[in-house]
Amino acid sequence: MIDLRSDTVTKPTAEMRQAMYDAEVGDDVYGEDPTVNRLEELAAALLGKEAALFVTSGTQGNQLAVLSQTAPGDEIILESDSHIFYYEGGAVSALAGVQTRTVQGNKGSISEELLQKAIRGNDIHFPDTSLVCYENTHNRAGGAAVPLENMKRIYKTAADAGIKVHLDGARLFNAAAALNCSIDELASWCDTVSVCLSKGLGSPAGSILAGSAEVITKARKWRKRLGGGMRQAGILAAPGILSLTKMTERLRTDHENAQFLAQGLRQIKGLKVINSVDTNIVLIDISAWETTNEAFIADLKSEGLLAVGFGENIIRFTTHYDVNRGDIEKAIAAVNKIKKIQMA
Ligand SMILES: *Cc1c(COP(=O)(O)O)cnc(C)c1O
Repeated sequence: MIDLRSDTVTKPTAEMRQAMYDAEVGDDVYGEDPTVNRLEELAAALLGKEAALFVTSGTQGNQLAVLSQTAPGDEIILESDSHIFYYEGGAVSALAGVQTRTVQGNKGSISEELLQKAIRGNDIHFPDTSLVCYENTHNRAGGAAVPLENMKRIYKTAADAGIKVHLDGARLFNAAAALNCSIDELASWCDTVSVCLSKGLGSPAGSILAGSAEVITKARKWRKRLGGGMRQAGILAAPGILSLTKMTERLRTDHENAQFLAQGLRQIKGLKVINSVDTNIVLIDISAWETTNEAFIADLKSEGLLAVGFGENIIRFTTHYDVNRGDIEKAIAAVNKIKKIQMA
């Protein structure tokens, strides 16, 4: 099976498994796991933040950012298609007790004008706006890399209004590769940032949340409250260190493979590639084929290819470490083959 459902399906490399085996460990709830400590120090240094926290998932990192920088009854501003709003089970209201205000972005970018309008003024009737969250790369926008200029605008507009900014950087290293920017330059335009180790960077589990020492201390307590205090977590932090030191440059290969896939798919009659393919995600619109997402995905599966539905008549393919150029060629051939079945 060629699995292009997500970059989360990557399996840990042989080197990662060896590092897990060899990892020096201790009780991280006591702060005594040397491997976790090393990962957190490394991540903070790379991202240019005072402190970092190893968390169970990207969702947990985002939730800790909200919990640590808001109070119940506050309002937070999110892009309408953002992961936090769309895919986290309403956790910000269930856990942090905040309400959400969404603004429509363009390829993941939020305009300064819309952001200004969404920020609440000082009125006894209004909730307090305490946090703006944005995403880079933007998943539902097809892995769009939000330009540095827009990141600065979002940060400055919020900062001028005394509002904190969280960057959901689950795929921030993909953004850095696409924009040819260093990761700390990107991470400088926010107060807190979360980064997934278990997507294109290949770790079996875990994410990083980074920010000021004060916020990360609060986040550490929230992580414990949520049951996210893990003991000999160095076993999982060891591959995380390899993700940050050895896996970031190779993301460019995933991006090239996505370009190659998009080129192949564009040549198939009736299919439309609808995103700009900035990074490792390709979105196609299949409406012209008179099929359904479910049927299309089942046909692909019978040809040995896995993909996911991503909205009405939209299919997402994601390239990653465990697929190579030959797999992408086979993927294009598989789509061509089901086209022939369709047209027969
Ligand atoms: C995958 C993803 C997350 C969540 O990561 P999990 O580890 O699956 O919880 C958050 N934000 C974005 C943009 C993502 O793509």
